[in-house]
Amino acid sequence: TDKKVTVVYEKPIDFTKIDTNLLPTVIIVGRPNVGKSALYNRLIRRREALVYNTPDDHVTRDIREGIAKLGDLRFKVLDSAGLETEAASGSILQRTTSMTANVLARTQFAVFLIDVRAGLHPLDLDVGKWLRKHAPGIKPIVAMNKSESLCDGVGSISDAADEARMLGFGDPIAISAETGLGMAALHDALQPLIEDYMLQVLNNNCDQDNGYGPSHVDDVAGEVDESKLPLQLAIIGRPNVGKSTLLNTLVQEERVLVGPEVGLTRDSVRTQFQYEGRTIYLVDTAGWLQRTGLEKGPSSLSVMQSRKNLMRAQVVALVLDAEEVVKARRSMTHAEVVIARRAVEEGRGLVVIVNKMDILKGKRNSTLFDKVMEAVPLEIQTVIPQITGIPVVFTSALEGRGRIAVMRQVIDTYEKWCTRLSTSRLNRWLRKVMSRHSWKDQAAQPKIKYFTQVKARPPTFVAFTNGKTQLSDTDLRFLTKSLKEDFDLGGIPIRIMQRSVP
Ligand code: GDP
Ligand code: GDP
Repeated sequence: TDKKVTVVYEKPIDFTKIDTNLLPTVIIVGRPNVGKSALYNRLIRRREALVYNTPDDHVTRDIREGIAKLGDLRFKVLDSAGLETEAASGSILQRTTSMTANVLARTQFAVFLIDVRAGLHPLDLDVGKWLRKHAPGIKPIVAMNKSESLCDGVGSISDAADEARMLGFGDPIAISAETGLGMAALHDALQPLIEDYMLQVLNNNCDQDNGYGPSHVDDVAGEVDESKLPLQLAIIGRPNVGKSTLLNTLVQEERVLVGPEVGLTRDSVRTQFQYEGRTIYLVDTAGWLQRTGLEKGPSSLSVMQSRKNLMRAQVVALVLDAEEVVKARRSMTHAEVVIARRAVEEGRGLVVIVNKMDILKGKRNSTLFDKVMEAVPLEIQTVIPQITGIPVVFTSALEGRGRIAVMRQVIDTYEKWCTRLSTSRLNRWLRKVMSRHSWKDQAAQPKIKYFTQVKARPPTFVAFTNGKTQLSDTDLRFLTKSLKEDFDLGGIPIRIMQRSVP
């Protein structure tokens, strides 16, 4: 099995392999005649264009939707030409048709076209207002179309850009839908947005308000075999605990030390390796190795950064130094406790790795080795009481020991984290667990009508209770503990929410 590990550097997402239903939607907006259709046609290259009619057919308007191909990126693109009759009549700001709302609700990103030859037009400002009002979460990419006409000295791109900034959506890019000029700039502007979005969808961070709408993400989860999705692993820890060395044993290639090159397109290069047929992404390895975020103050940027990375990872491997554990007579420093708790609170799976165990073994007449193996799991239990059974693995990265144990715990944690239990199974369990437990008196028994899992990754449950019944903390602890025991969900964060039904 050791031979199966290979390291490759590549874009984290191969868009050609992604179900087009999962792709984000980019809407092209702009006043009439700026070139929306021209851009749309260029992006879809007239492939797979499908036209859909709006549900409210009293005014038949079409919005074209297709799959755009822009370099390696794929996304759904909407040509909003159908919406613009309203803009033309000047009434777009007043009228909110259900269609507009529907369309914008399904849209994650926007390209806002202006005509660079015409300069900023009052209708451009209207479109900007309209967008701010109806899609406040979308910051459009402003694209100055017809820019090829400026190359011959008719005007200056930088003057036009100054004007375009007045729309308040940041720096514009210059394109020409007709000649294809600036498509690379459009690609570079969209790429980080789309890749971030795809990672969120693939991560399925249901419990995080990621702005993409939880119900949408949850639908997605239902259609995808989650166990096949790549696992995103973050290896974190203080400097010198042995993260790079460990990483090398995990991937068994020196190349990983080179790491994703700094200065390449932000976040677009990631380390990925295969382990027993599974794809594992290492989340921001370079950042963790070099930025040493744990050393800085709690308000520093690096901690913000680390939080973002925690959100991306599904499993967080926190590496500790066995020698430091012995010296400090405690398993974790304050910073390590903080980061471990945060990982758990963010709903990530946590695996603790105690590295450099070889040093302890080397000390003659010492039972330190055994002591550490015994003490660390107990201590972790007391500092992170929210979760019982956080896996702890003891390694010597230097001697290449513990690799398989680490990978087994990482994958095991991930699989638990993806668990989905059917409602019927949960309710059979609920009845059993309620009768099994001996309550102080009848009144103390929580009245739960039924129990269901609403989300996975991490598993999240809802207990439906009768009317005014409030589940106490004790009740919730009892349910959590029983769920973990009965469905082997130890070591991962699970959540139980309460809803009352009349
Ligand atoms: P829409 O109303 O925003 O969909 O605009 P169209 O795509 O129909 O384009 C309006 C006009 O602008 C058409 O005559 C296009 O040929 C022209 N046009 C579109 N893109 C460009 C461009 O990049 N350069 C030039 N010079 N003309 C363009
Ligand atoms: P990082 O800063 O967390 O990435 O740590 P490195 O991987 O660069 O390791 C820091 C130092 O610890 C290096 O000198 C490594 O050789 C050493 N080291 C790493 N793992 C082990 C281990 O398991 N045992 C021992 N004795 N030394 C180790």
